[in-house]
Amino acid sequence: MANSQLDHFNDPFDNLFHIPNIEIQRKRVSNFDGVISRVKPLTHDTIEVTVSYESEEGFLGATAGQYGTIKVEDLDRPRAYSFAKSPELENPNEVTFFIRMVEGGGLSNWFQEKDRSGENVVVSGPMGKFGLDKTDNTIVCIAGGSGMSAIKALVEHANHNSLARDCYFFYGARTQEDLYCQQEMAEIAKQWNPECHFEFIPVLSEEPEDSDWDGPRGFVTEYFNENYLTQGKLDINKVSAFFCGPPPMIDHGAEVLKQAGVPESRIHYDKFEDARSPAPVIDNAKCVVCDECLLVKPVADCIVEATNFSIMGIGKNRKVEDFSRVSPRETSGIYYNSLYIDESKCIRCFACVDACPHDAISPDNGQVPKTLRTQ
Ligand SMILES: Cc1cc2nc3c(=O)[nH]c(=O)nc-3n(C[C@H](O)[C@H](O)[C@H](O)COP(=O)(O)OP(=O)(O)OC[C@H]3O[C@@H](n4cnc5c(N)ncnc54)[C@H](O)[C@@H]3O)c2cc1C
Ligand code: SF4
Ligand code: SF4
Repeated sequence: MANSQLDHFNDPFDNLFHIPNIEIQRKRVSNFDGVISRVKPLTHDTIEVTVSYESEEGFLGATAGQYGTIKVEDLDRPRAYSFAKSPELENPNEVTFFIRMVEGGGLSNWFQEKDRSGENVVVSGPMGKFGLDKTDNTIVCIAGGSGMSAIKALVEHANHNSLARDCYFFYGARTQEDLYCQQEMAEIAKQWNPECHFEFIPVLSEEPEDSDWDGPRGFVTEYFNENYLTQGKLDINKVSAFFCGPPPMIDHGAEVLKQAGVPESRIHYDKFEDARSPAPVIDNAKCVVCDECLLVKPVADCIVEATNFSIMGIGKNRKVEDFSRVSPRETSGIYYNSLYIDESKCIRCFACVDACPHDAISPDNGQVPKTLRTQ
């Protein structure tokens, strides 16, 4: 059942000639054949999915805040999901995700069609750099929707290790129907390091005025700004912030923190991008074929090496003709002449953008599109 730690790359010789520390690189990500063992509704649009897999070692080196991918046979590319439990608390040979249904989404539809318990999937991980910093700063977490997953893992990790840090966890939801994990947060509040403060603050943006909700209302980042930041309830010189969930919430939260004087180096986030966001674009005029992006890509063929192609048509009719995808074995290093991001395979993790030391990968395609579209 279990694939080995080395199976992340399809071709055993993939990149062989230009990865100096090949064992370390390849041990980063494991792929496991798994089975969906449980699907549990958390709210009307969010499910908890547990995948079981056989392995003696599990996701080696996984840390709270990281994510894995789920690949189902019916869909062409995997989807990214944050680990919803701190790895040290996860059951052996299991991995848990919180998945919010997205309208018109491929995997969302797949889950909604029928009960998927017992179905085979491939899970891969760990991926991503999101996680707690190593300071004793106050932890400010802000999550929205299924962003609960990674933040829950972070606070579980801090609690499990009795970190001597205060923690404020603001959770944005629309209505009371969208709230979940309240019980888990109440347990963490009881167990938190007694020397320090833990507070879970759900904030509702669309709760009917006449309901029985007497908690905070409004947009979570605005509530945080007006009631905590500008009220001086937090020492901004001793704050590290962790955001997870929808990109607009994160952008706004990061902005208010920056305006309050919190440096970017203390603002950490994991944006749940999806296929609605444009894939990043590689500018081959700036690329020096250092291969850093190829080392971090979570999907085997999201970035491809090309020697010969032409693009016909414009807009939706754009088609790649005469495209020769060549084996990296034959073209490694300086021998390929272009790198392209295949938008249909890209899961919008933006790891390549972070990894590129030459600023050759742009996170938006405001410039002349250079991505490879096959349809
Ligand atoms: C690092 C990371 C971590 C994540 N963690 C989580 C998590 O813990 N929980 C969670 O719920 N989600 C998470 N996500 C989001 C998740 O990976 C999926 O993107 C999300 O679940 C949607 O998948 P889907 O297959 O249902 O939708 P998709 O099929 O990917 O479609 C998403 C949306 O884009 C639209 N769309 C599809 N193709 C196009 C196109 N070509 N042009 C324009 N629009 C298009 C669809 O109609 C749909 O509305 C994470 C994302 C990232 C990058
Ligand atoms: S953002 Fe970059 S690394 Fe991530 S899937 Fe897309 S092409 Fe690959
Ligand atoms: S990391 Fe940047 S410079 Fe290096 S190969 Fe990728 S795109 Fe080119």
